[in-house]
Amino acid sequence: IVFLGIESSCDDTAAAIVTGEGRILASVVSSQTALHADFGGVVPEIAARAHAERLDLAVEEALAKAGVTLADMTGVAVTAGPGLIGGVMAGVMCAKGIAAGAGLPLVGVNHLAGHALTPRLTDGVEYPYLMLLVSGGHCQFLRVDGPEDFTRIGGTIDDAPGEAFDKLAKLLALPQPGGPSVEAEAALGDPDRFDLPRPLLDRPGFDMSFSGLKTAALRLRDQLIAEQGGLRQTDRRDLCAAFQSAVADVLAEKTRRALAAHPVPVIAVAGGVAANQSIRGALEPIADEAGARFLAPPLSLCTDNGAMIAWAGIERFRQGHRDGMDLQARPRWPLDSSAAPMLGGGK
Ligand code: ATP
Ligand code: FE
Repeated sequence: IVFLGIESSCDDTAAAIVTGEGRILASVVSSQTALHADFGGVVPEIAARAHAERLDLAVEEALAKAGVTLADMTGVAVTAGPGLIGGVMAGVMCAKGIAAGAGLPLVGVNHLAGHALTPRLTDGVEYPYLMLLVSGGHCQFLRVDGPEDFTRIGGTIDDAPGEAFDKLAKLLALPQPGGPSVEAEAALGDPDRFDLPRPLLDRPGFDMSFSGLKTAALRLRDQLIAEQGGLRQTDRRDLCAAFQSAVADVLAEKTRRALAAHPVPVIAVAGGVAANQSIRGALEPIADEAGARFLAPPLSLCTDNGAMIAWAGIERFRQGHRDGMDLQARPRWPLDSSAAPMLGGGK
């Protein structure tokens, strides 16, 4: 089995070629960060147009890098949601065109399933396992029991942590995306100078909240500006360090509880925030304590990419799943059909 995977649900245009054994023959990601830089966030119309322009190129490049042609493919997998609808539609149309033109089976994939199944692609992890998905749009604990069997056991009730990192960066006039810039500043700061809240730790369960953290950071910033007439570099660094350590504490404690309630052999993280070294560092000992293996995929497979979509497509294909030319792009598509969509946190 060899699959082409196509991803265009946010601001990365991606295509990859992946085999049934989990070998990534090529993975091309064309980031739109520069296009959206002046707007302080992803502009859906700009994203959709850029995806439409870049998808064919990304696919061609992936095929060329892998040294294969469409004739070598077993099928085409594409993100059919959730995400920014214009981008998802562009990807679905591109995939339909290729599937129809090359006579290949088409498999629509849930973007979150792509993230959630990544540990199987990278490490061949067996079911069941726990997945902490932390990104710009999502924050949830999933119990993964099969390629189509996800149970959401908790998550954020407001902002996703990546979104909170991005907003903090904006408050402090640091470059977007905020995660990496906040992490870089935090590395030089003192996490103990400012006292930020650890929301919802006093309540049982696995739900989290990050919007209060951002509000608290805003208040501290304004207080510093009022007192000093501006922000010093050390203030910025210390605020970033305090913020990152609060997020890490919340994620670590909720992970400890999730593993206690679901004693599975493996806990994996995915999503852009899983790239954060200090968050990884906080989660690893929690897994150790619970006797679980902690798995963090390489950074390039934590953020949006086509390889995870190709792989999720292969898993669905093996289950016998095929989509027709009526495959729809879906702006919302909860992984866990039993979960209330509004509790999904973000997109
Ligand atoms: P989703 O996949 O849920 O639709 P998304 O496409 O925004 O959302 P990703 O591409 O997985 O998510 O991740 C991007 C987010 O990850 C951004 O909010 C970014 O700030 C955050 N991020 C990236 N690197 C880091 C880091 N080192 N520390 C913290 N956050 C980070
Ligand atoms: Fe994503």
